[in-house]
Amino acid sequence: MCGIVGYIGHREAYPVIIKGLKRLEYRGYDSAGVVLYDGNDLKLSKTKGKVSDLEARAQEEISLTGTIGIGHTRWATHGVPNDVNSHPHFSNSGNLVIVHNGIIENYEPLKKELISRGYTFKSDTDTEVLVNLIEDVKKKDNLKLGKAVQIALNQVVGAYAIAVFDRERPNEIVAARLGSPLAIGIGKDEFFVASDASPFIEYTSNAIYLEDEEMAVIRLHKPMKIRKIKDDSLVDPYVQELQMNLEQIEKNGYDHFMLKEIYEQPAVIKDTYRGRLHANEGLIKMAGIEDNLQKFLNADRILIVACGTSWHAGLVAEYIFEEFTRIPVEVEYASEFRYRNPIINANDVVIAISQSGETADTLAAIKLAKEHGAFVFGVCNVVGSSISRETHAGAYTHAGPEIGVASTKAFTTQITVLTLIALRLASAKGTLSNSAYHRYLQELEIMPEKVAEALEVNDKVQAIAEIYKDAPNCLYLGRGYNFPVALEGALKLKEISYIHAEGYPAAEMKHGPIALIDEQMPVVVIAQKQEHYDKIVSNIQEIKSRSGKIIAVVTSGDTQVRELADHVIEIPSTVDALSPLLTTIPLQLLSYHIAVMRGCNVDQPRNLAKSVTVE
Ligand code: GLU
Repeated sequence: MCGIVGYIGHREAYPVIIKGLKRLEYRGYDSAGVVLYDGNDLKLSKTKGKVSDLEARAQEEISLTGTIGIGHTRWATHGVPNDVNSHPHFSNSGNLVIVHNGIIENYEPLKKELISRGYTFKSDTDTEVLVNLIEDVKKKDNLKLGKAVQIALNQVVGAYAIAVFDRERPNEIVAARLGSPLAIGIGKDEFFVASDASPFIEYTSNAIYLEDEEMAVIRLHKPMKIRKIKDDSLVDPYVQELQMNLEQIEKNGYDHFMLKEIYEQPAVIKDTYRGRLHANEGLIKMAGIEDNLQKFLNADRILIVACGTSWHAGLVAEYIFEEFTRIPVEVEYASEFRYRNPIINANDVVIAISQSGETADTLAAIKLAKEHGAFVFGVCNVVGSSISRETHAGAYTHAGPEIGVASTKAFTTQITVLTLIALRLASAKGTLSNSAYHRYLQELEIMPEKVAEALEVNDKVQAIAEIYKDAPNCLYLGRGYNFPVALEGALKLKEISYIHAEGYPAAEMKHGPIALIDEQMPVVVIAQKQEHYDKIVSNIQEIKSRSGKIIAVVTSGDTQVRELADHVIEIPSTVDALSPLLTTIPLQLLSYHIAVMRGCNVDQPRNLAKSVTVE
């Protein structure tokens, strides 16, 4: 995920681009860059860091004149955040320049092919491969930029929003999208290209949102042409008049970043397995695992260290790993692990999970594990973060920046990555039956659609929130794979609504928490139609006989729990092990709506910080 801004018109492009990039920084902020064209020269300035760092550098480095330009604020997926990997990227001839948001999945074979034809690469990015592919196509048949972009994109697998400029055709910018957003602002004798409308809303409210697999050739003083990338058919541009203000645009129309991030989950789960999960071929390809497969296969046990929501993802992973791979797993709070003289052996594999990759306790736990000779594998969201550097290998979650302090999409993408790892190991060890293995792969592939379906419970959840928003306490119960989801549901409610909440394994209720139940107490029960269903139905009966209020998260079509519960929230069915990806959705929404109704600051709850970089 990143932010793109392009401008072509009569204004100085630089201030438009810089201001626009600042507004897009919520999409990514590990590096930034700009290219300006002044009629003669293409002037490039780019740097690791924020847009403000770029501003300081560009002022020193280049003359800021020119009425055409493209800029980028990056959220790295391929190649650590550094100056060289920052966008824009030039083609080998220096004529073409590109900014890109997304992932080119097949960049490796394309890169090899281009290298064999004499191309060289400065960066580690997938993006530099794309711009050279366009150049290669363009040169071969002496094509115009638009045609070359189209042909090149037809060879690409992955997701992209791009803006490309060719110094040989200085009156045009070519833009295209597949899976990443791109809007074109239409002013009088000027055009803007951007990841959302916030960079150009002050100049024009007329915008075209490109659809997937569409590209636009944007030419000054000429009608804009939009085509389908695949079949070359022309599309009638639909120009919208935007009514939104700036803040609404950055949050994509959502009231809070948290809600936006909850709704991003279908897309980011897909981004996380993109290029890794090949369900039809029955394969999982993850470089960090392939390169270290023996370490995992020879492991006596896996130790997972994490904090907060990541720790809950670790607990889900414990159930999944043990079931799929039969490797013993222990999950530790990083803060406890680091101070308790734990037993760590050279044959242990330690998996460290952290959204930011900067969590101080997790970093300390990694250091300790390394000192004891263990192999340490990181699972984090921020490319180039400390954890990604301190670990021996790792896998990114590709969830894009998470701005809301209460973690949502980080949780589900962590579970997605960990499930992929467990499946890869299971296939190497032969610990899952062939049919179960393929079933999991297929189910994971359609999970984005199921998560989207689960999000349809929003109105229902909102109505339930209205009833319980003033409750002083709340209990969350789940069993098996959904016990950690109960913990996570309770944590979400605590952190953003300040209601005291506890998560428990449902059967543990009788060992204490049942004493709390009375007619005031809402109890959220994850009651999926899966193993232990009958047991959880009994637990619900126990709550009901003590007059507790039951909010049950059931599998769609369930009738038994419906008769007992005060409220049921139906979500799609799936295989047991993957159900946390779905059951967590209504719990995120419940905490969100309750917090909003209580007037809490959802995105920045009191006393909390997004990444805990102190112990
Ligand atoms: N894959 C590209 C990179 O890592 C673009 C990432 C983005 O969307 O910011 O540079």
